[in-house]
Amino acid sequence: MYAVTDPATGELIEQIENASDEQVRAAIGRVHQGYSAWRRRTVEQRAAIVARAAELFAERTDELAAIMTLEMGKRINEGRGEIGIVVDIFRYYAEHGPALLADEPLTIKGGRAVITKEPIGALLGVMPWNFPVYQVARFVAPNLVLGNTILLKHASICPRSAVAIEQVLREAGVPDDAYVNVFASSRQVPWMLADPRIQGVSLTGSEQAGISVAAEAGRNLKKSVLELGGSDPLIVLDTDDLDETVRATSTARMRNCGQSCNAPKRMIVLSGLYDEFVDRLTKRVAEYYVAGDPADPNTTLPPLASVAAADEVAGQVAKAIEQGATLRTGGRRIGPGAYLEATVLTDVTPEMDAYREEIFGPVVLVFEAGTEAEAVAIANDSPFGLGASVWGTDAERNTRVARQLEAGMVYLNSAGGSQADLPFGGIKRSGMGRELGPAGIEEFMNKKSIRL
Ligand code: NDP
Repeated sequence: MYAVTDPATGELIEQIENASDEQVRAAIGRVHQGYSAWRRRTVEQRAAIVARAAELFAERTDELAAIMTLEMGKRINEGRGEIGIVVDIFRYYAEHGPALLADEPLTIKGGRAVITKEPIGALLGVMPWNFPVYQVARFVAPNLVLGNTILLKHASICPRSAVAIEQVLREAGVPDDAYVNVFASSRQVPWMLADPRIQGVSLTGSEQAGISVAAEAGRNLKKSVLELGGSDPLIVLDTDDLDETVRATSTARMRNCGQSCNAPKRMIVLSGLYDEFVDRLTKRVAEYYVAGDPADPNTTLPPLASVAAADEVAGQVAKAIEQGATLRTGGRRIGPGAYLEATVLTDVTPEMDAYREEIFGPVVLVFEAGTEAEAVAIANDSPFGLGASVWGTDAERNTRVARQLEAGMVYLNSAGGSQADLPFGGIKRSGMGRELGPAGIEEFMNKKSIRL
């Protein structure tokens, strides 16, 4: 069942039946059939439609932001910001797609060859609720420009976002057999992947969903791109403005109520700064983040996406405390609705679950490191490897540390960001493949070599 439930109040607003197996099969048939016509259009024609979609997303910013606020509790201003990045992504692939898809001549032993950049067919997207439009954009914009068609299964808590995205694409000129939203259940995904008409799958979501989808894709010899969880380290080496560092790092952690895969969930601070950093961070988190209505632009702490999500994160915090972590501030559920106080935990040790788990909510863990090498060791002591960040005044030292981090992406003196032209993705249990930038259009591409 798909359902809209306002996480600020817990009120159920709308329910939508899952698609039947027959409806899902018909949707697969549509994107399969639509592929031959869509791929025959020129790259420029597809790019023009994607450019038009960018303009329509921009026009609908307020409407889309309001839907996200209702469905998953995103602060209204953050929702508008999310659509800003979505517009950038559609514009980026519209503008750069033709060059990224140009033939690549190759001089080879005994002659010449050319690599052509071709689509592979109908793809399945399985998308999460934390950035309901951005996550879809990362997958859809490059693949539409490339010439693949898309069947999209969105998270069951954001059906209105799913419908709104499909409407924008349709109005932009994407044919109704080149992009199709389907209210499939996660139970139907395995046989959707087994269907020979689907050529690959992109999933953003939890590790468990990733394991299941990757296993099924593998069994059916289909390509998968997985963008899963993270527990990104943020290393503070030094600072010439501690208050600003505390403000910027805590803001990065609390963005989207802490529900970003690449949020800096573990802050690692060198000993000389640690005590003062923790004191000021605790003060800011306790004072600044006040629960409120996510539709009010002045709210600083919105609800989590669902009551179940808030209960789960509160449970992780309680368990960490029970296992010996120190609660500096926060930790309590606030009701009605899916609120959890912004929380700071210290003294988390490797024996505790919180040390290795992803905590998908407004919770910061702070670790003390004696040396730069120790900071790197703590940072890398994680099953995840999505993003990381290094904060300090010495650019050379920052880069030296960045190079030692086991992560798919490292930011210097900023954290948790994303932009259209910078590849995004992780290693280890954070997934495989890349989205955005030039890399993002290559994942479901047939780089065909033609020997001339
Ligand atoms: P899920 O991974 O369950 O949901 C993401 C998408 O995957 C949804 O469309 C969901 O469908 C679908 N899905 C779930 N299980 C399967 C499956 N076995 N096979 C195929 N599709 C599946 O996220 P949750 O909402 O459960 O969140 C749990 C945790 O996941 C979070 O606490 C966080 O750690 C992580 N997460 C990470 C995200 C990221 O950006 N990397 C985004 C969201 C979550 P349906 O909604 O119908 O169940």
